[in-house]
Amino acid sequence: MGGDEWTRGAAELPGLEDFVLVGARVAAEVPQTAWSQARGDPEERERLARMMHAAVREAWGLPLSDALEFQDLGPTLRGAFSLTDGSLRIAEWLLDRDDPSDVLQTLAHENRHDMQRLMLAGRLSHPGGVAGQRELDLWKRGLAEYRPGEVEGYVYNPVETDARAAASGVVTGYWRATAECLAQASESDEEE
Ligand SMILES: [Zn+2]
Repeated sequence: MGGDEWTRGAAELPGLEDFVLVGARVAAEVPQTAWSQARGDPEERERLARMMHAAVREAWGLPLSDALEFQDLGPTLRGAFSLTDGSLRIAEWLLDRDDPSDVLQTLAHENRHDMQRLMLAGRLSHPGGVAGQRELDLWKRGLAEYRPGEVEGYVYNPVETDARAAASGVVTGYWRATAECLAQASESDEEE
């Protein structure tokens, strides 16, 4: 495939701005202030994280699912996704973090893997036209060559680079919407 062909087709693919809009929707559902106020209340933090999960899935057109568990996954693993049944496991220490984008990033990343799975199974359509079909082929190859801990098998695996890009866009959108909200609040303070 020539570089020009890829560049042309790539414009049809969902990009950073699409992911940013998803993050803005999450910020409307679970504002940073709500997360902050739930400090020291693990049940409330879990409820808010489940709301983030639902907001991400709804924005991506994924069927709503409560197949989500917060567990001890060890000191380094943040999340895991089951290709078999689409369930998510998220490290429970992320709920203790005062930065809500820590858990949001992992939820977005793992839910993006569910989106890949449903698109590859033909249960969701890829919005990218011809380029979308090429991306599906890349994901299929990526899953076949999945080798955790290796550079090509994991770090540069197409399913991982896609999930990382989606998650960082969602987090960017979350903070952008939060910053706008704070700016509006301080403007109305000044008017008083
Ligand atoms: Zn991943």
